[in-house]
Amino acid sequence: MFKHLIFLLLPFICFSQSKDLHHDLFQSYDSFKESSLEIRRFKHSDVTSLLDSLKKEKDFEVTILGRSIQGRNISMVSIGKGDINVLLWSQMHGDEPTATAAIFDIFNYLKTDQSLIENLKVHFIPMLNPDGAASFSRRNAIGIDINRDAVALQSPESRILKNTRDSLQAKFGFNLHDQSKYYNVRKSEKPATISFLAPAFNYEKDINEIRGNAMRIIAQMNQIIQGYARGQVGRYNDEFEPRAFGDNMQKWGTSTILVESGGYLDDPEKQFIRKLNYVALLSALQIISTEGYKNATLDQYLSIPKNDHKLYDLKIENLKFSYLGMDFEVDLGIQHIEKENKDHSAFYYLGKISDIGDLSTHYGYKALDAHDLTFKSGETYPKILEDFEAFKTLDFESLIREGYTSVSINNMPEEVKFTSYPMNIMNLEKIRIPKNNAMPKSPVALGSDATFLLKKDDKVVYAVINGFVYSLKDNENEVRNGIVK
Ligand SMILES: [Zn+2]
Repeated sequence: MFKHLIFLLLPFICFSQSKDLHHDLFQSYDSFKESSLEIRRFKHSDVTSLLDSLKKEKDFEVTILGRSIQGRNISMVSIGKGDINVLLWSQMHGDEPTATAAIFDIFNYLKTDQSLIENLKVHFIPMLNPDGAASFSRRNAIGIDINRDAVALQSPESRILKNTRDSLQAKFGFNLHDQSKYYNVRKSEKPATISFLAPAFNYEKDINEIRGNAMRIIAQMNQIIQGYARGQVGRYNDEFEPRAFGDNMQKWGTSTILVESGGYLDDPEKQFIRKLNYVALLSALQIISTEGYKNATLDQYLSIPKNDHKLYDLKIENLKFSYLGMDFEVDLGIQHIEKENKDHSAFYYLGKISDIGDLSTHYGYKALDAHDLTFKSGETYPKILEDFEAFKTLDFESLIREGYTSVSINNMPEEVKFTSYPMNIMNLEKIRIPKNNAMPKSPVALGSDATFLLKKDDKVVYAVINGFVYSLKDNENEVRNGIVK
């Protein structure tokens, strides 16, 4: 009987898979993911070696368009035999690499199947700003924001993009960025994991056919992403910016779609968001190739909720504490700030209190209600340890239960800034002696380290260590790293 059931269901399963390209793309993603790009801080040399191997691929054309200010090659990969030119460019801001990684996943897919771009010739410029990528910073080597240089064209990177668009007369363009992980979807606690914009081409924000087509494509991309990150798509601010590339591309006649990759819970290297880029961009190419976007309406685009900027990594609600004899009850907004190593290849987190007060209009990726808990500053363990080896053998859970959030070490190497343990370290080599007679500091202060305890009935229930929650109640340690001060 069960066999019959499966037999009956089979045609439906096959039908739905062939109908929904995006579903297939999502399911088979792991076999196309470019495994050499796994963290966001990859460099031009990583991309160059992948481009070199693409030169050997049939149907892939790799062209060097020019060089960045510091002399790094900027390349374009062209694929397809159709008449409609589509241009995609990523990482014009050096610290916005999510779509660059997705583009290399897309290459792996197109090596095996190009049927979905049948009527197109697709041109990709991955990593338009390799100098910015080297220092993981937004701007180029002389500090120009390439996205404010579309008219002045003072940077070689900007001229390369403009000349390429002009020579191709690209009918469609994808301007691929990352946005702050603190953007949320308006009036929602959900992050704007992907935001879209069909940029305006004038201050009046008129909608002509070129901009309208970009809106229709976005309307369909939105529907696809909703299936994998429901409620997590926002619409980016459409104020006209006369210096920006998206706005000018639209003006020059290319239907331009801005894609912004934001944040997603527990995805610090944005690998799930990269997968969403892969699914949405390949689907969009098929939508353009088949002119499927003509079925979408402008209203579908305009009904995508707007972006807002009201998210924190951790929000602590109703925290009670005392200072100078007064009692306060506040919410805390805590951010996990990325501190990089010298060569911009890795980072650790510094948990900071970024806002204090009534944050009822704000949200957290994670939230903790402290209304029935008591605030307590963390203490430093009184015994001074000789070295880091001794530290590693400590029972951190017991120390936290006893109220300790940091340990002093005598011989801690200066260069160590963090550890993977749920405990901060005071490096006695570096410690500052506080000034006498200074007004005591508030135990909760803007910009101060987010490390403290929350007690109930005189027992520690939660420790916030470097902005991350260690729950003794559920025995859950979410601390990504402690810091060395
Ligand atoms: Zn950007």
